[in-house]
Amino acid sequence: MEPTLVIVGAGIVGLAHAVEGVRRGMRVVVLDRDERAVGASIRNFGHVCVTAQDGHALDLALAARRTWLDLSERVGFRVWRAGTVVLARADDEMAVLSQFARLRGDSQVRLLDKVPLPLVADDVVGAALLPLDLRVDPREVVPALAAWLSARGVDFRWRTAVTSVEPGLVRTTRGVVAADAVVVAVGHDVDRLLPDLADEAGLTRCRLRMFEVASPGGHVVEPAVLSGLSMLRYAGLAATPAAADVRARIARTRPELLDAVVNLMFTQRPDGNLVVGDTHHYALTHGPFLDEDVDELVLREAARLLGVAALTVRRRWTGVYASAPGEFLVAAPHPTTRVVSVTSGIGMTTAFGLAPTVLDGL
Ligand SMILES: Cc1cc2nc3c(=O)[nH]c(=O)nc-3n(C[C@H](O)[C@H](O)[C@H](O)COP(=O)(O)OP(=O)(O)OC[C@H]3O[C@@H](n4cnc5c(N)ncnc54)[C@H](O)[C@@H]3O)c2cc1C
Repeated sequence: MEPTLVIVGAGIVGLAHAVEGVRRGMRVVVLDRDERAVGASIRNFGHVCVTAQDGHALDLALAARRTWLDLSERVGFRVWRAGTVVLARADDEMAVLSQFARLRGDSQVRLLDKVPLPLVADDVVGAALLPLDLRVDPREVVPALAAWLSARGVDFRWRTAVTSVEPGLVRTTRGVVAADAVVVAVGHDVDRLLPDLADEAGLTRCRLRMFEVASPGGHVVEPAVLSGLSMLRYAGLAATPAAADVRARIARTRPELLDAVVNLMFTQRPDGNLVVGDTHHYALTHGPFLDEDVDELVLREAARLLGVAALTVRRRWTGVYASAPGEFLVAAPHPTTRVVSVTSGIGMTTAFGLAPTVLDGL
């Protein structure tokens, strides 16, 4: 009898563990409280943001990149390989790109003579291409992966909320499931199942504001696009000496962007619309009320970045991910259980790198 791996949560982290469990010949059961995955994994930019990571996250991202490319062939979803363009709109931002290029070399970071985008702000002073980065459409890949796994024998039980995980079994709203091993991949809801573990890890919830806007002029923008604000957000870019100058200048001239923790960036959807964001607001419990001025700030800045007067909003939403002092939470409340949460907003980039390391330890 093959061992049974029970996975709680059908977001990208749960699915990555399911892919890995199947690869290792395990019997895999995935439990999710919803009718389909509607969490962070379908609400994001689909940006496989490899190069801007640092240290352990960079290693996981490079491994995950290989799996994304492999799965794209086997599952049959599209991966965009045009990389990421990082725009610099001030000398200190250009210094970050130059330092990053020197550090990582040509295979990872290329300074560009010309900005390869159809739309761009007129204050852009330079840009870099991160050619290893990928893009996927999260709204396509998450259900596609679940369907593909299901066809390979993974037992998905939807609308089945897990109420507790104990050695050898998982209790759910639809009865008890026996398990040789359990991976709890519930994203930002670890505290609902294991409150003490969540408190110990310093877990909180980060809520982001997101927009889908019509692409001005219907232009195609193949790469993901990051801005100077992204240089403060991603560990690899933020580790360059010049990043401190970028932060100090923005704090002096545009403090409202730091107050709302804006990471101005966008990716394009298959229908041509641009996914634009984002903001970061941290709390254990988020109230339901959204201030319009924060949305206006992001949309105004995004329009400026694209060099247009205004953007036409097609959709708005919020997304929540788990946040903690470390980039990843991997905990073992008992020997056959692992709690896995990407606590830094990079689950699309790293989940496929993380899952094999977690199953190695189980
Ligand atoms: C707006 C936004 C933009 C982002 N952009 C990017 C990006 O471009 N690139 C990137 O790398 N990362 C990005 N991220 C981060 C990334 O989306 C997350 O790290 C990742 O999706 C987390 O995956 P997950 O499977 O842990 O969580 P989720 O996708 O939230 O899945 C958790 C699942 O667990 C289920 N669940 C919870 N509790 C229970 C229970 N008790 N019983 C049963 N089921 C349960 C939920 O129903 C849910 O389906 C972004 C995040 C957000 C919110």
